[in-house]
Amino acid sequence: MFAFGKLKIERKLTLIVMATAGLALALSGGAFVIVDTITIRERAVEHLTTLADAIGRNCTGSLDFDHVESAEDSLVALRADENILGATVYRKDGSVFASYEREAGSHDSPSSAEEGEHFNGGSLLVYRDIVLDQETVGSIVIEWDASELDQAIVRSGLIALGILTVATLAAFLLSRRLRRIICDPIVQLSLVARVVSQQKDYSIRIPSKREDELGLLFSCFNDMLARIERRDQDLASHRDNLEEEVEERTRELVVAKEAAEAASRAKSDFLANMSHEIRTPMNGVIGMTELALSTELQKDTREYLEMVRSSADALLGIINDILDFSKIEAGKLSLEHVQFSLRNSLATTVKTLALQAHEKNLELVFEVAPKVVDLLVGDPVRLRQVVINLIGNAIKFTPTGEVALRVEIEKHEHDCVKLHFSVSDTGVGIPQDKLAAIWEAFSQADTSTTRKYGGTGLGLAIVSRLVSMMNGEIWVESEVNQGTTFHFTASLDLARPGEQRQPTRLPVQLKNLPILIIDDNETNRRIFHDTLARWKMAPEVATDGAEGVETLLRAEKGQKPFRLIILDLHMPGMDGIETATQLFEQSERKSYKILMLTSSEVMVEEERLRSLRIFRHLRKPVTQSELYNAVFELLSSPAPRSDEPVQARVLTSETQTDVESSDETLRVLLAEDNPVNQKVAIGILKKRGHEVVVAENGQIAVDLLEKDEFDLVFMDMQMPVMGGLEATEAIRVNESGTGRHIPIIALTANAMKGDEERCRNAGMDEYVSKPISPKKLFAAIEKVRQLVT
Ligand code: ADP
Repeated sequence: MFAFGKLKIERKLTLIVMATAGLALALSGGAFVIVDTITIRERAVEHLTTLADAIGRNCTGSLDFDHVESAEDSLVALRADENILGATVYRKDGSVFASYEREAGSHDSPSSAEEGEHFNGGSLLVYRDIVLDQETVGSIVIEWDASELDQAIVRSGLIALGILTVATLAAFLLSRRLRRIICDPIVQLSLVARVVSQQKDYSIRIPSKREDELGLLFSCFNDMLARIERRDQDLASHRDNLEEEVEERTRELVVAKEAAEAASRAKSDFLANMSHEIRTPMNGVIGMTELALSTELQKDTREYLEMVRSSADALLGIINDILDFSKIEAGKLSLEHVQFSLRNSLATTVKTLALQAHEKNLELVFEVAPKVVDLLVGDPVRLRQVVINLIGNAIKFTPTGEVALRVEIEKHEHDCVKLHFSVSDTGVGIPQDKLAAIWEAFSQADTSTTRKYGGTGLGLAIVSRLVSMMNGEIWVESEVNQGTTFHFTASLDLARPGEQRQPTRLPVQLKNLPILIIDDNETNRRIFHDTLARWKMAPEVATDGAEGVETLLRAEKGQKPFRLIILDLHMPGMDGIETATQLFEQSERKSYKILMLTSSEVMVEEERLRSLRIFRHLRKPVTQSELYNAVFELLSSPAPRSDEPVQARVLTSETQTDVESSDETLRVLLAEDNPVNQKVAIGILKKRGHEVVVAENGQIAVDLLEKDEFDLVFMDMQMPVMGGLEATEAIRVNESGTGRHIPIIALTANAMKGDEERCRNAGMDEYVSKPISPKKLFAAIEKVRQLVT
């Protein structure tokens, strides 16, 4: 189909011009032919009429005299016109009077008719009356050959056609010339528009001096381009400004960032300082109270001191929370990655809270699903902190009923495990509208000024951050007056197969063990000295690093080298690290291990610490039990050689290189209800010179231990009144916070799988299955007896 719309504008214009011109010419040509035809005919009619009148007049006489020949002579004159085919004169009655034929037979005389002209086939007939004295005497008709007429018309038609052709051609040529006047500018405009759109060059202008509409269009187009160009320039200059502004802002931000970093550094320095400043006197308060509590006291004084101790603990808890929170906020807190026994760690944790639960008559339930792997790698201290916080809250907000900690496996992957912990209580619950707010720092569900429960509102904020650092999640379900369950998950790595065995503690003799304390703080020195002296060790003190080095060298010369050095990290002048370096460089025997006391994180690589023989560090304030455990652990494990990787240290009883054997007699408490078993055990033990006191059930054993001093307990599992497990738990509860730890060896007929674990979870140190034999008994004693101080 002819697509007019797609044609170029030039073609369109040509077509329009040609169509209009052609139509006009065709119409005028047609009109010309019509007019010419009419004119030719009229002329012919006029010519014939004149001829007929003239001949008619000539024939009037002939008609009057009926003289035919003269009439025929008149008609013969018509021969002069070769187009006249013939003529006839009629009488009045219509009969033929005379006629003329150009060629014989060429003309049939037509009948007479009314005056006028008639076309008949290819000829024209003109009739005229012949009048004499106003009377019609006859008529004449002349027949004319009309083919001449047709030829004339065809000729004029051809002329018109010729003119039409020539005119159209001329119009075409003219339109070609003229269309440029319109098209060229439009084409130019379209070209410019295309260049502008493709090259985005808005500086192009269309030159034009025209004053018509196209001129207006061009000037508007130019104007539009000028505006866009100006806008572009404005934008570019804004952009430049913006870049400058961004640079300026970036400079300001860098300055602000540096200031913030400086502030953050100042904050962490402040934290470290505060930590040190607060912990050092706290160490004094707690240590002195513990020392005082371990002396003979009046009942009132003991109570007062116990209150001082518990207030100090509470204060320490708050300080720890605030410092932890600031540390987390400053991004300074990092998790440790050490191997630990989940059950042991949680059991000890739960035990420390047992007293609180016991005081409120709450049942404290602790359950680890059997499938949960025990030896894991993670940060047991922080895990413990989360659990303590949640159980602490649960105990705090539960007036009656129970608090339960449960651990299950959420997901087991090939080298790690995701555990699901839940701490549920039957307490006051948390209103639904407060559930979201409890996670925020410093926020508590009950904000009334007459609050029943204390707290800082920091616990859960810390807990939730610690949980997310362990790649876990924490959430809560609660119903008012029904209870609350806090759930959290934590990812922990599985201990590598080679490490699946926990280091066995080696027996060690603490008595008269030379030990050096290097601390600038007098109170601390006294506390450590007195505590260690109470444990019958042989402590010496030094007030700074230099004195410490001197004392160490002196002891080495005197053949009484120190086995352990307790070294404070924060000391004026030579600090702990510097002192350790000096000790290492100057000591000849290097028979010591260092226990470092810190107030904050030790910012020294583990590797370097090891190379300086710093194998443990304790954060101040240090409780007696922490100190005892650390000292015991350090002395009971052989030190890795400094070139040996720490992780490769797997201890076995064969590696008892620094064991000192002892033939001391022990005072043993035997908790056993069966008289036969009692006799057997007493017999075996007495043979070795040990003193044995019998308790018939667990309760008696607990009571005896409260009143009397023993070195060791043998604990039967099944006894009336109170079984061995409960008794052990009670003993450990009583011991908590005192720094005491009496070795307890289970005596049991239950040789079922999991029994040993249950015993250990309850707080027992060793396990002997019945029937008891001297070999088994002494092996167990051998393992634990060096605990006795
Ligand atoms: P606090 O130091 O006040 O205990 P937390 O951050 O540990 O701060 O707890 C925030 C608030 O959450 C508590 O004040 C208490 O209102 C609510 N809460 C936490 N645990 C429990 C619970 N087991 N039962 C009821 N309310 C709880």
